[in-house]
Amino acid sequence: MPDRDRSDTVRGHRRVNLRHQIREWLGESRADWNDARVSVTVRQVVLKLHSRCNLSCTYCYVYHSLDQGWMRQPVTMSDMTRMRVAERIAEHVELHRPSDLSVVLHGGEPLLAGHDAVAATLAVLKKSVPDGTRLRFGVQTNGILIDDRFLEIFHEFGVRVGVSLDGGAEANDRHRIYVSGRGSYDRMAAGLRRLARPEHRDIYSGILCTIDVRNDPVAVYEDLISFDPPAIDLLLPHGNWTTPPPRPPGAMSYADWLIAIFDAWYGAPVARTRIRLFESMMMRLLGGQSDTEAIGGDQPGIVVIETDGTYEQTDSLKTTADGAAATGMGVATDSLDDVMAWLDQPAEPAAECLACPVFTVCGGGLRAHRYRDGTFDHPSAYCADLYAVISHIRRRVTADLAVLR
Ligand code: SF4
Repeated sequence: MPDRDRSDTVRGHRRVNLRHQIREWLGESRADWNDARVSVTVRQVVLKLHSRCNLSCTYCYVYHSLDQGWMRQPVTMSDMTRMRVAERIAEHVELHRPSDLSVVLHGGEPLLAGHDAVAATLAVLKKSVPDGTRLRFGVQTNGILIDDRFLEIFHEFGVRVGVSLDGGAEANDRHRIYVSGRGSYDRMAAGLRRLARPEHRDIYSGILCTIDVRNDPVAVYEDLISFDPPAIDLLLPHGNWTTPPPRPPGAMSYADWLIAIFDAWYGAPVARTRIRLFESMMMRLLGGQSDTEAIGGDQPGIVVIETDGTYEQTDSLKTTADGAAATGMGVATDSLDDVMAWLDQPAEPAAECLACPVFTVCGGGLRAHRYRDGTFDHPSAYCADLYAVISHIRRRVTADLAVLR
């Protein structure tokens, strides 16, 4: 066979194989999505160590949303409640023997609990979990209180630290402010710079940024990158059909804002960081798993434990209605298995979503964003944006895959 014919044949086989592989991936992704809806084990415990914060961010779902449950919470978690939490986690692990379980210290601002309480909590949890299950600790903080003692504790227990920051000073201080209205950027950036030192690389998890479409997207991206984060989380501000997301007149759409960052990130000659939202979209496009609740459908197995020991569902539901995250159960009387059995299966996706060409990637978006007047079986309030971003990413990835043909 002439060389040209042979190479055409090889290319043809590759093309067929590639299509076949992608079809398989996409087929599996729908099966994965169905499997992911059924879970009896807890994957992640979000532990509220402190119910108050040293900031008063304008979009905060704890203090400035419809749910005002924080006012009924004790300021800190008591020693007794911490012990009960540890016993409940140990009991669950004994029963299910998961290979790992994640515990994220949260608030309010969890570091307000102080060095001793944070260290004691980590110690009691670590001690209580039987061998064979790896406890993966994390903390989500605004960074202001990060100091050498906290960093020492985090190294001791292998706690991975995520810091919330919305970009440079102007972008960040639009929302991330003290009660007085003063911006918090300088102190947040100082804490983040301390964490970003090379000796802390193994405990630096990344930066969580809530989007404001009035900020220049690429400038925000570059400002975040200047802290050398291993990963960036881009969060759409909470909103739903009853309480729509902010769409300031004259500002970019969320889709265009995200696409501008995607192009800067994806087109860079060398990888500078990971962006979980985009990676999850790409993984779903290729048939893999999403790494975020925001994409790919509901991710069961997340239980929030408030400072008084009550169990709640994921925090973002607080933005839909007062008490929307409540379960009426708690560590004093109920096991983690009880609460998992109680948690409703996620709402059926909307008919529009099931018919949507990007459903296996999008999954209808974050559950809280689907809310309308008491129900969740609607497309996301960000539907048009999600569709545009996913379609853009699909075009870019498809073009790159075509080069392999
Ligand atoms: S893009 Fe819209 S219609 Fe399609 S799955 Fe997502 S929310 Fe549903």
